[in-house]
Amino acid sequence: MSGRAAASLVVAVALAGPSQSGLSAQDVIRTADFNVRGLTSTDFPRVKQLADHVYTFEQIDPTKRTVTVNNLIVVTTDGVLVAEGQGTVDNTKKLVAEIAKLTPQPIRYVVVGSEHGDHTGGNSAFPDTATFMASPYSKATFERQAGAPNRRANARPVVVPTETVSDKRVLTLGGTEIDVLMLGRAHTGGDLEVYLPREKILFMSEVFSNRIFPSMANGYPSEWVATLRKAEAMDAAWYVPAHGFVDSAAVLKEEARNFRLALERIIAEGRRLHDAKTPIENASASAVLEPYDAWTRAGNNAFGALQRVYMELDGQLK
Ligand SMILES: [Zn+2]
Repeated sequence: MSGRAAASLVVAVALAGPSQSGLSAQDVIRTADFNVRGLTSTDFPRVKQLADHVYTFEQIDPTKRTVTVNNLIVVTTDGVLVAEGQGTVDNTKKLVAEIAKLTPQPIRYVVVGSEHGDHTGGNSAFPDTATFMASPYSKATFERQAGAPNRRANARPVVVPTETVSDKRVLTLGGTEIDVLMLGRAHTGGDLEVYLPREKILFMSEVFSNRIFPSMANGYPSEWVATLRKAEAMDAAWYVPAHGFVDSAAVLKEEARNFRLALERIIAEGRRLHDAKTPIENASASAVLEPYDAWTRAGNNAFGALQRVYMELDGQLK
């Protein structure tokens, strides 16, 4: 299938909505790279409806260029909850503008699932109706950033969340139950997820990227696998990734599992090479990572992932 044909199929899926698509899960090219999908940057941002009042927003990440940063938008009659921001003020402004097209309701909550800059750099562009929520771990990170003595005067403002979730917090907004969860350490150490029990939608933040080679340089390898297994055991139809396309529910479910299998392979290969006393400098060249070495950003992420596995084995992760 040509890239163009694949692109029109993606559009067809988006227009057909979550349940009426006759396309099988095999019909999209499994990649996170919009070029490979036959899309261009002008196809973004794009908004997809997952349920009656629930949407995703996908925008190309300016720092990574080929992959998207995704948000979950939950519209209720008592305000809007957004899972994460974008990496730049410009892209977060676009997100806020798209939300304004969907509803006149104010943004009441922003959940920071990943504290990394590509999900938080634009947070100052959210309106002041929004309360920011993060894990205690991530809140401390933002406090350190905001208070850093060598902060440049022109650095973009850091938004320090005022509310924290260390295990589970249930919000009921206009009759919609929204659970903010900490399923375990994964990509950042302060990872949060957002779960809609009635709609069976789980926004995974950076715990799950769709077809991107796992970025583990700040992660907790074996705990991450356990966190993914917990998510897989939940009653969810949609597993929404923070990066990579928001494909059909069936594809995303399959890919969330594939992502866990990729992590397990990386950990197994890291352990094998570590046990064989392979110097970390040679680990990426010696690791058997196929088929995951063909995933988007494998070249960027493999070394850091194996290094993190070595660190865990050496007891360096606390
Ligand atoms: Zn990210």
